[in-house]
Amino acid sequence: MSNFVVVGGGAAGLEMVTRLASKFAGKANHSVILVEPSSHHLWKPRLHEIAAGTFDTELDAVAFRLHSACHGYQYVQGKMSGLNRAQKSIAVTSESAPEQTLHYDYLVMAVGAISNDFKTPGVSEHCLFLDSASQVEKAWEKMKQLLANGGSHRVSIVGAGATGVELAAEWAKVSHQLNRYQKGTALSITLIEAADRVLPASAQCMSEKVMKKLQKQGVNVRLNTRVQRAETDRIVTENEVIPADLQIWAAGIRCPDWLANLDGLETNRINQLKVLPTLQTTLDENVFVIGDSAECPQDDGTFVPPRAQAANQAAGHLAKQFGRLVKGKALKPFVFKDGGMVIALGHDYALMNDKVVLRGRYVRRLYDTIFRLHQQVIFGWFRVSALVVLKRVKSLLNPYYKGSWS
Ligand SMILES: Cc1cc2nc3c(=O)[nH]c(=O)nc-3n(C[C@H](O)[C@H](O)[C@H](O)COP(=O)(O)OP(=O)(O)OC[C@H]3O[C@@H](n4cnc5c(N)ncnc54)[C@H](O)[C@@H]3O)c2cc1C
Repeated sequence: MSNFVVVGGGAAGLEMVTRLASKFAGKANHSVILVEPSSHHLWKPRLHEIAAGTFDTELDAVAFRLHSACHGYQYVQGKMSGLNRAQKSIAVTSESAPEQTLHYDYLVMAVGAISNDFKTPGVSEHCLFLDSASQVEKAWEKMKQLLANGGSHRVSIVGAGATGVELAAEWAKVSHQLNRYQKGTALSITLIEAADRVLPASAQCMSEKVMKKLQKQGVNVRLNTRVQRAETDRIVTENEVIPADLQIWAAGIRCPDWLANLDGLETNRINQLKVLPTLQTTLDENVFVIGDSAECPQDDGTFVPPRAQAANQAAGHLAKQFGRLVKGKALKPFVFKDGGMVIALGHDYALMNDKVVLRGRYVRRLYDTIFRLHQQVIFGWFRVSALVVLKRVKSLLNPYYKGSWS
């Protein structure tokens, strides 16, 4: 009998418990428990679309309680707040119940990452983040208020990585569409980046193509610009003050501080837990880490990137390895297979890696396919096919931008 406890129900954790439950739940008294503070799962790579009012969450949010009942794992709504490796237990806190202790044989940490404000003054007070459903809902509410009465509004995004670039393009598209519903309504979008190009972690030619497209969409891109502080309604850089009615911080990632004090486990400078290629923490073979909160080495000396496909692959790999582990077999190392990166710019233009440029409705389809593959793991093909049909019908009846009618 083994007791698997998975902490975090995001891209990695939810796939992990679904796979583990179908493998083990109810068999030979194995148990699978998910610890997650939110009541619903939303796939993070689409959060910027919620902030832009272009993603309808009604059909795609996953209620953990319902999902766990259908798939045979136990869902504990709460936050992990401590680890006792000697006793193989974790502490879980929640608003509605006293602190509880959960015992594990194998612990899988999948608590993800949050934006890194690099301790820049004023950012936590004056900027919004895109790290969770509740945060993007806030951004969307603010955006709705701004646009309710028409007119022109200034928005700033700090960080021109994939998230910042996609949000800027999405807002540019919204601004363009809004003119159809309310003449004179517009967004003036400024994207601020400290590096000398957008998408600094991607190939140079990809950055160039994306930069051209953003400029064509009317986005003001400031490169080589370091933010000094954020204030009410403005971002202060070395050279200028950029006024903004809404400010989003999407620069870099780090893991929460509590991971750095987790019963002596090794972490790096951004609080990721260090793991071996088997995804076991360097100091404890019964504690595993997958997704953005892991620093996992690769053969070429680099680390597995903090991306959704890496999180999904790690979950699939580890679920298989647990099958081997309970049979007493050795664990195989996790090898990340990079399927490339898709940067969608406003739903009708996307770049895949640095070569393939996609235009028109195929972009939306491709983006949806990646998302549906994630859903396929957590629901199965039948339910996903039904969702696709329902969503298609709903989108025929509703406008592109939700704010125009709600
Ligand atoms: C706006 C945005 C757009 C993105 N776009 C892309 C993209 O286009 N392509 C791509 O590959 N990647 C993209 N990413 C990155 C991608 O979403 C992450 O790499 C991926 O979600 C990581 O999965 P994860 O399971 O490690 O973490 P997450 O998906 O973040 O899940 C972590 C979970 O842990 C839970 N949790 C946190 N603390 C605790 C605690 N104390 N106890 C219990 N549970 C806890 C959280 O509630 C959350 O549900 C994007 C990210 C953002 C924010």
